[in-house]
Amino acid sequence: MKLYNLKDHNEQVSFAQAIVQGLGRNQGLFFPHELPEFELTDIDELLKQDFVTRSARILGAFIGDEIPQPILEQRVRAAFAFPAPVAKVTDDVSCLELFHGPTLAFKDFGGRFMAQMLAQISGDKPVTILTATSGDTGAAVAHAFYGLKNVRVVILYPHGKISPLQEKLFCTLGGNIETVAIDGDFDACQALVKQAFDDEELKQKLGLNSANSINISRLLAQICYYFEAVAQLPQQARNQLVVSVPSGNFGDLTAGLLAKSLGLPVKRFIAATNVNDTVPRYLASGEWTPKATQATLSNAMDVSQPNNWPRVEELFRRKIWRLSDLGFAAVDDETTQATMKELKALGYVSEPHAAVAYRALRDQLQPGEYGLFLGTAHPAKFKESVEAILGEPLELPAALAERADLPLLSHHLAADYTALRQLMMSKA
Ligand SMILES: *Cc1c(COP(=O)(O)O)cnc(C)c1O
Repeated sequence: MKLYNLKDHNEQVSFAQAIVQGLGRNQGLFFPHELPEFELTDIDELLKQDFVTRSARILGAFIGDEIPQPILEQRVRAAFAFPAPVAKVTDDVSCLELFHGPTLAFKDFGGRFMAQMLAQISGDKPVTILTATSGDTGAAVAHAFYGLKNVRVVILYPHGKISPLQEKLFCTLGGNIETVAIDGDFDACQALVKQAFDDEELKQKLGLNSANSINISRLLAQICYYFEAVAQLPQQARNQLVVSVPSGNFGDLTAGLLAKSLGLPVKRFIAATNVNDTVPRYLASGEWTPKATQATLSNAMDVSQPNNWPRVEELFRRKIWRLSDLGFAAVDDETTQATMKELKALGYVSEPHAAVAYRALRDQLQPGEYGLFLGTAHPAKFKESVEAILGEPLELPAALAERADLPLLSHHLAADYTALRQLMMSKA
């Protein structure tokens, strides 16, 4: 597999290099040189296969001979060890539930596949994973790498801006997992990570590697569950399918669009955000004008400078698609709450991120179309707000209950690169 740097097309890397480097020169994102496409008959055949077999074929179409297919399939089997079921909500709308993995969020798919790929590629060389999280990436990365030999993981998150249970899930592990609460918002954490990747000495010394949604392996993994969704939907939904994606950094949407570019029958996508609406405003006006990030109920989407957006634009450019065909909506907290109640009345208990996507979908779905929205996290991950909004207690799934009473092991730092650097070098 060959990839190029979106900021400098002369920088070309292999799949292995893209995984290890994360970002290219000038913090440019890597993008696939070839965009494989399946024939219609291949798509039909793929949709009949089981999740792991099919996913290994999809990933193999991108990765090529860099990883032998049988090994890739083993790795996929280890990573995707839990299902992605489609739950029917109304006659014309279903939810793709991506929260049945160990950290109860879709980021388990990307995090675990990335860990498998990194293990495959690095062999015995020590690496340090440095990543910023607005909540769920951190947990997924921590659990995906927990206990892996030769891997140290450092995770930054905005202090006080993620849910207490979310924090418990990944800040209580210890071992090779170090967590750092930063005084600042997610964008500040992301900026610190970027600074670290610009620090050549640190990078060399620690074998630095990023594991947030910029890593190409995470994106490729996420393509697979869009196929899994279509495989489960009724046949007649296939060409009338509208998919609504709750978006923060826009990795999930990028993966969905890559699935479409492979030939998956999706009529259109909707980019759904909360009031951190840089992209919806851009799609409406053509102007890219990020504002200060605001805290919302759907906090994993509190991102005003979405780092995967250049990939979305590149894909539209390469496929000669029109950005005007991409649906969009920004949903405020009040509407999110009302939507969660509406879903509950339909018999479906959901959480704020999925509710944002459902709202956009419900408002834009046309007669004859079939709608799918992504359930990106288990409602219990946002227990406090879900219980307050729906007025009923939620049971904690075992993965959360086990960690709820453990002490937090996080460091606490100002949003200051020097302090972070010191912490990271201290054990090197
Ligand atoms: C990360 C996350 C999102 C946003 O996904 P992106 O790929 O960053 O757009 C949505 N919902 C939940 C629960 C998340 O954790």
